[in-house]
Parts: sequence; C-alpha cells; structure tokens
Amino acid sequence: MLSFLLHGATVLTVDPSNRVLIDGWISVEDGRIAGLGSGATRPDPARFDEVLDLSGHLVMPGLVNAHTHAAMILFRGRSEGHSLLTMDGWYHSIREPELSLGPGDIGPAVALSCAEMALSGTTTFCDQYFHAEEVARAADASGLRAVVAYGIVELGDLEHGRAELERAVAFVEGQRRGRVIPWFGPHAPFVDNSEQTLMAEVEAANRLGCGMHLHMAAGPEDNEDTLARWGLTATQALERSGFFAGRVHAAHCLDLSPQDIAIFAAAPAASVAHCATAGLRSGREGICPVVDLRRAGVIVALGTDNVAANNAYDMVTEMKVAGLVASHREGRAQPIPSRDLIRMATIDGARALGLGDETGSLEIGKAADIAVFDMRGPGWSETPEIETALVYSGSGRDLRHLWVAGEALVRDRRLLRADFDELRRDYAATYRNFWDRVARGERAA
Ligand SMILES: [Zn+2]
Repeated sequence: MLSFLLHGATVLTVDPSNRVLIDGWISVEDGRIAGLGSGATRPDPARFDEVLDLSGHLVMPGLVNAHTHAAMILFRGRSEGHSLLTMDGWYHSIREPELSLGPGDIGPAVALSCAEMALSGTTTFCDQYFHAEEVARAADASGLRAVVAYGIVELGDLEHGRAELERAVAFVEGQRRGRVIPWFGPHAPFVDNSEQTLMAEVEAANRLGCGMHLHMAAGPEDNEDTLARWGLTATQALERSGFFAGRVHAAHCLDLSPQDIAIFAAAPAASVAHCATAGLRSGREGICPVVDLRRAGVIVALGTDNVAANNAYDMVTEMKVAGLVASHREGRAQPIPSRDLIRMATIDGARALGLGDETGSLEIGKAADIAVFDMRGPGWSETPEIETALVYSGSGRDLRHLWVAGEALVRDRRLLRADFDELRRDYAATYRNFWDRVARGERAA
C-alpha cells in the first residue's frame, strides 16, 4: 500500500488530550498512522510515495455515524408531517410501503447513502435494517467501515419473526466481510419484537459474542407497554432479560429515568446513539439526557438516523444540532463544549461500536481513517477556536479528501471507488421502480 504524508494543515487529533496541531503533519504507512506532529518535526517528504500540502485545511479522524438505516434513503422526504418516533407515524409513512421493498432495491439505495456519507466526512457507520445481507454487500463495496445489524421486524407475526431470526443468526455467523461487522438489531423491543424473539436474539448475540443495536425509549409506546405489563421501563425490562450483559448500542433514548441511566452506566459495554435532528423533527417531547448520561460515564455517540427522519447524512450538522438541543434542554450556554461534540462524533462513536482501538482518533498505530475539510471557503475565517468553527460554522459539504484504512475513497470531492453520477442514475431507476410497485400495491415476496 502507498505511503503518504499530509502536511501544512490544522490537525485535530481527538487523542486523550485533544491535541490540536497547527502547521501539523501526519504520515501513513500500510494503511496505519505512522507518525504525526507539527512544524519542524515533519519528516523528509522524499520518503513517501505521495505528499499533499494541505495548507488551509482541517485534518481530523473520519466521522462515525452511530445510527442509521441506509436503505431508507428511498423514503427521503416521505414523512413530512409524520412523527417517525411514534408507532402510528412510522407504520403509515414507512412500514406500509416497506412491504413492497425487495432485496434488489437495497443495493442501489445503500450505495448512494454510503456515497453521501463518504462525501461529507463519515468513515464509519452503524446500520440497522432487514435484508442486512444486501446492506452489508453494498457497504463493503463502498469501502466504508460499518457495523450492520440485522434488524428483525416482527409486528406480531411470530412465524415471520422465527424465519427472520434464522436468517439473522446465519448473517452473524457469516462473520465479517472486509470492513463490515455483523450484529443483531432487534428493531423496537417489546413494541415490535416479541419477548420470545428478543430472548432468542440476546442468547444468540451473547453466544456469538457480537453486539446488538436497537431502538430504545424512542417512542411513547416503548415505556408505556412495559410499564403496563410489568411496572418497568423498557430499559429496566431489557436489563432483567439479560440485554445489558453484552455489547448494547441503543439509539434515541429520549425517555430515560435516573434508574435507566444507572443501568447504562453499570453495564460493561452499553452506549447511546443520540439522534438530535431526528428527535427534534419528530415533535416528541422527550430529549435524550446527554449531559446526565455523560456525567454518569455512559458513552454517547451521534447518529443521523434514517434520512426520512433527518433528510441528511451530514455529521457536521449533526454535531451542531446536538450542541443546540443540549443548550436548550439544560437552559445554559453550551453545556457540551464543541470539543466534546467532536469526540462524540468520532472516538465515542468508535468506542460504542467496539472499534475504539482501531479508529475514531488520529494516533500512531490506528487505522488511517481520515477526513480533510477545506477551510478556505465561505463560513470559515480566522478564529482562536477551531473546534467551535467546525461544529457551528462548518458543513459536511466542505469535505475534500477522505481515507479509510489508508485507502483514498474521496479525492478532491470525487468518489474513487465508484462514479457518483452512475450511482445516482442506478438509484433513480430503483426509486421509481420501488414507488411504482408501492402504488400498485405489490407486496415483496
Ligand atoms: Zn432508527
């Protein structure tokens, strides 16, 4: 693999001491970070296969989108006026048309989603959906790093649940494909997945040593259902069922009680994916208690959720919205400093997925998952607070270059593994075909 040297940039390392390197450099060999520093410590450029002068640019670890459903780009703009965090809103705007969705629709949709993620600075994402085999195939082809959780949607159809469980176990047993790691993904515990299916999922996940990515305390039904049945919140009911023994990564978590937060804090590997934009857009009253969770020592990562709920994969904007909603919830200015919002969108996302030793920060020995933002355009000007500038003035559209494991996926705003226009055309044909089938009421086999 080619060695390369990036220099002349402002480097956000996101290492344990949050070092910012002015006139910084970083060297990459065999896909890993071989060195980094600033100014005169720069090694001899002649030693490298490639050298890039990145004056006027920000170099940072690739962003980690900790919760999405990449195939749902097919539903972009389709939930206007509906809350996707209520059973009713989700069922009518998403689930009904989803019944027409076939495995052949997934690849072109996920490919375009991966392209949008890469082109806005994301190097790793965590997905949950059915047809996970197709999601994994398309994610692998994109070159991004991904955790793909097999999402079981059961909705009272126990036979369908059993068949999906078998496929999910086979998917996870198939092990990782390139940079793609398979997990289980109970869709919405209790409200959707039955107790019987949930128990089978947790048993298989613990036996196979893989994580589970699920929605938790997202809709009002989540806690209502378990409180009525056992007098427990959904988090407490899941804890009682052994869910917190292994790795659990939970999206949304809008309605956590202090006892629920204590369960997350006491668990060996539990984390939260805060989806600030999707939460706000849903109109739900609850807001994920990020400050309380972080104070209790819980890892909180950031996710866009699907682009029907959000409409964008821009993790730079997601940091900003998470910052804004935290100020609003806590009633004080920036209770989560910009520097911490960046940590949540990088290293904390990596840690939530069990990848904290591999990615999420720029440190010697880690995989070279690197995003480069151009700071020479509108929105950027001289500032003593580069982290604040990125979070509150930046945009994913400032992304110029991106590497995953030392492989260039984006160069000069252009995808390298695939042609964006071609992905866009494939997707447009898939989109038309899918929505025509929905209009005709054609169910997938
Ligand atoms: Zn979701």
